Amino acid sequence: MTEQKKIVKPGTDEWESLCQRCARCCYEKLDYRGKIFYTNKPCPHLDTEQNGCRIYEQRSERHPECVHLTPELAAAGFLPADCPYVAGISDYQAPEMDND
Ligand code: SF4
Ligand code: SF4
Repeated sequence: MTEQKKIVKPGTDEWESLCQRCARCCYEKLDYRGKIFYTNKPCPHLDTEQNGCRIYEQRSERHPECVHLTPELAAAGFLPADCPYVAGISDYQAPEMDND
């Protein structure tokens, strides 16, 4: 019998608890010819000492560019390869660092 993959519902505590708080996704990204690159420029709301968002509960209102993660968005390629939200996505293409 094959093991069924458990579906975790976005927005639940269980979904939130998957995040390792690495904050890599809270840095600006560049899209160059369809390939996503990470920059070293953090979101202005990121506490870079603690790797935490200073406005997490109000981020929709105060920083509308901040996306609420869903499985579909996770697969879009802006999370690092070791992020738990992309675990198990076959052929996942993680961003690279922009070294220019
Ligand atoms: S990259 Fe993944 S683990 Fe890291 S902060 Fe973003 S969602 Fe959380
Ligand atoms: S608003 Fe908060 S969660 Fe969203 S990108 Fe900025 S620091 Fe990260």
